[in-house]
Amino acid sequence: MTGTDRKLVVCGAGGFIGGHLVKYLKDRGFAAIRAVDIKPVQDWYQTTPGVENLVLDLSEKEACYQALDGMDVVYQLAADMGGMGFIENNKALCMLSVLVNTHLLVAARDKGVKRFFYASSACVYNGEKQKDPNVTALKEEDAYPALPEDGYGWEKLFSERMCRHFEEDFGITTRVARFHNVYGPLGTFDGGREKAPAAICRKVIEAKLSGKHEIEIWGTGNQTRSFMYIDDCTVGIQSILDSDIQEPINLGSSELVTINQLVDIAEEIAGIKLQRRYNLNAPKGVNGRNSDNTKIRQYLDWEPSIRLKDGLRRTYEWIESQMLLR
Ligand code: NAD
Repeated sequence: MTGTDRKLVVCGAGGFIGGHLVKYLKDRGFAAIRAVDIKPVQDWYQTTPGVENLVLDLSEKEACYQALDGMDVVYQLAADMGGMGFIENNKALCMLSVLVNTHLLVAARDKGVKRFFYASSACVYNGEKQKDPNVTALKEEDAYPALPEDGYGWEKLFSERMCRHFEEDFGITTRVARFHNVYGPLGTFDGGREKAPAAICRKVIEAKLSGKHEIEIWGTGNQTRSFMYIDDCTVGIQSILDSDIQEPINLGSSELVTINQLVDIAEEIAGIKLQRRYNLNAPKGVNGRNSDNTKIRQYLDWEPSIRLKDGLRRTYEWIESQMLLR
């Protein structure tokens, strides 16, 4: 079953990626889409007309049965998560997302779901391989021996393996993508859960609006990362879902930058230069991380390609528009 007559449910649809994914699927002609999130609908980052919106706590087993009733495909993006500031300080909350993943997989088995997509993370990778800012990009096999990000990463790695065993033992087709830093408009940019690209845009805009030309950067600024624009993420999710890729696969950009370079780009968009202050006590995550895209290129003849300077401009402009509304 691959056509647009499939019935789809997006879990975590009130969130950043889930909201964009629902819109992407609707634009691609899927008629029957159910969107589920724990937040009241008015708090979702976006809603798409013609979609059934349900407010459910998917950590509850019964709610998972309700969410998956009559569905062919599940996109599982619901998780209690945020940027480094959140995941380093809320390890137990992050691990509790295991309830959502467990109950959804059990409900998927019992409801006869055909395909199950799981949003994993680059945080599953062994920390020992991410100590040097001059990173060797992470290959899928670098997740083992396991030494993932404490809390959040362990939960993701465990849930990845549940997907694998539900496929082996119960015959549900599961597909797992390891997202590397996704960014774009219509997501969190303040409040403590925001990730680096949105946080940096916000700080640059605040500096511009206040005239106080300073910025605080977490860590030394020499940490390296890659950032994937949301439009590459939604395309990648659907391609992986429809593929025969049976192993967890990287879904990320391989355009590596330092956090200082990320700030350079945001400053250029804003047309200002800021005095940088480095907060070495702030959560900063691993020293270096990039996505090795050899496998996704082999499987799909595709990889994320939207340039950071282009995606960051769109993100910056959206965050600025929101901040000017306040
Ligand atoms: P997000 O926080 O914007 O969205 C997650 C959504 O899940 C939220 O709207 C939240 O309300 C919902 N949720 C949490 N608990 C729930 C529950 N019990 N029942 C129903 N809904 C619940 O995050 P996002 O950036 O859109 O991330 C989506 C997925 O991608 C997550 O699984 C995340 O771990 C994964 N991921 C994201 C990134 C990234 O850079 N954004 C990177 C790696 C992995």
